[in-house]
Amino acid sequence: MLAGIEDEVQADHSTYTKPEEVEDFVKKTGVDSLAISIGTSHGAYKFKLKEGEEVPPLRFDILEEVERRIPGFPIVLHGASSVVQEYVQLINQYGGQMDGAVGVPEEQLRKAAASAVCKINIDSDGRLAVTAKVREFLAKNPGEFDPRKYLGAARKELIALIKHKNQAVLGSAGKA
Ligand SMILES: [Zn+2]
Repeated sequence: MLAGIEDEVQADHSTYTKPEEVEDFVKKTGVDSLAISIGTSHGAYKFKLKEGEEVPPLRFDILEEVERRIPGFPIVLHGASSVVQEYVQLINQYGGQMDGAVGVPEEQLRKAAASAVCKINIDSDGRLAVTAKVREFLAKNPGEFDPRKYLGAARKELIALIKHKNQAVLGSAGKA
């Protein structure tokens, strides 16, 4: 179970996946892939950190145990935005309020992408990119009311972000 909200599904806390249950579930159901819980969560506020505290690392020990039990089985991660701080800062700078928004460091996701994890779901980073650029554009161009203009800036940033994730984090460039 992942904490956070996605569509109509909501949970207020996370429970780490038990590798033996993954093996049991996969064998009994014959599913093609399975999303597990190793420390990611939905939304832009993944961790409540106290002053000076760092984001807790993903539970790679769970992932390794799953791989050991069912080698080659494709694992999925949900809630894997890194919550790009550059966007959070832009949002806060131009009238937004997103204090304490934090996600999973890209370095951790890079490591996960090189393992049995075959699909990594990222949504919040895209939402942050679009919101940051819309806020920045409207603040800098207060007379502008054409969505083609302010959404254009946002779209450009979203494309750049997705290219970056594919090439530098997920390792999926050139594999389609
Ligand atoms: Zn999800």
